[in-house]
Amino acid sequence: MKEMWSSDLLNMKPYVPGEQPKDRRYIKLNTNENPYPPSPKAIEAVVAAANADLRLYPDGECGDLVAAISEFTGLPKSRIFAGNGSDEVLALAFRAFFAAGAKARTPDVGYSFYPVYAELFGTSAEYVPVNDDYSVPVEAFIDTPGGVVIANPNAPTAVALPLADIERIVAGNPGRLVLVDEAYVDFGAETAAGLIEKYDNLLVVRTTSKAHSLAGIRAGWAMGCENLIAALNTVKNCVNSYTVDRIAQAGAAAALRDREYFETTRRRVIATRERAAAALRELGFEMTDSKANFIFVRHPDFPAKDLFKALRERGILVRYWDLPRVNDRLRISIGTDADMDALVSEFADITEKGR
Ligand SMILES: *Cc1c(COP(=O)(O)O)cnc(C)c1O
Repeated sequence: MKEMWSSDLLNMKPYVPGEQPKDRRYIKLNTNENPYPPSPKAIEAVVAAANADLRLYPDGECGDLVAAISEFTGLPKSRIFAGNGSDEVLALAFRAFFAAGAKARTPDVGYSFYPVYAELFGTSAEYVPVNDDYSVPVEAFIDTPGGVVIANPNAPTAVALPLADIERIVAGNPGRLVLVDEAYVDFGAETAAGLIEKYDNLLVVRTTSKAHSLAGIRAGWAMGCENLIAALNTVKNCVNSYTVDRIAQAGAAAALRDREYFETTRRRVIATRERAAAALRELGFEMTDSKANFIFVRHPDFPAKDLFKALRERGILVRYWDLPRVNDRLRISIGTDADMDALVSEFADITEKGR
């Protein structure tokens, strides 16, 4: 039946999200979800939005959500674009700025959706090898032929570039877009949002899925100069003018306005990360310096694939990629303290028995 498929789709390799199995209860440390529920105010707003007005289309401009993002970030509303999860915002951005043969440079170890968008939209992408310690080689991202796409902190490495390096990259690419994906910035990195007033070639993309515990309602946004926001709106209005539904707009806006809950939750995740990292180092694990809600670990004596399988049998899911440069590592999302204690205890048992 594939004769009906568009020819360019036949060889497309779509993104593969982390598994969400239903066969038993797992401790889920594989998709970087937040272990804590969203703000009670977000849940209230979602419930309140489930009313007779659902017969009406949502606000296509996401006015109140954009206002909440503006309060949260301190940027004017004219520099904000809201979308149906940041994956959608990223897709629209690839279509708006890097499509049809346009060049973009990105680290070879990075968010695995970028190569998918690059293929879908015909980006001529260049994958720059990260250093052996997984840090991003900043020089390679200055004076690029067409622009830059970078996650900061990077995924799945958890390594962050300091703001000064991001600014060097932005300043080093005048007239070419630098897209900084800050899905994990709230867990210890510095946002580049403050540079937007100064540079017209910077687009910063964020999400409520991670630090705001709202992966289930799909809301994300981009920040940049008016010209970049206009390009995103142009693409959006060529595909679907109502990308963010009423429920998601209400829930995301309420979550962003509950600053206190956000601060408490992200600090808890950071504290648990540091505690779990220390316990795993005791067991001989090595890891990058994480500024995200996950850690990227290896054990010098045990193949990552074996550890992945052993954990899965014991009811703990983490992420493993059988790909060059990362196949000796596991990416482990930060759960509750109890989740991480269970992980440490299973790892202690596995590594003890395996010797
Ligand atoms: C999780 C993640 C996203 C996607 O977030 P959504 O808003 O849920 O689509 C974007 N970029 C990176 C690097 C991520 O890890």
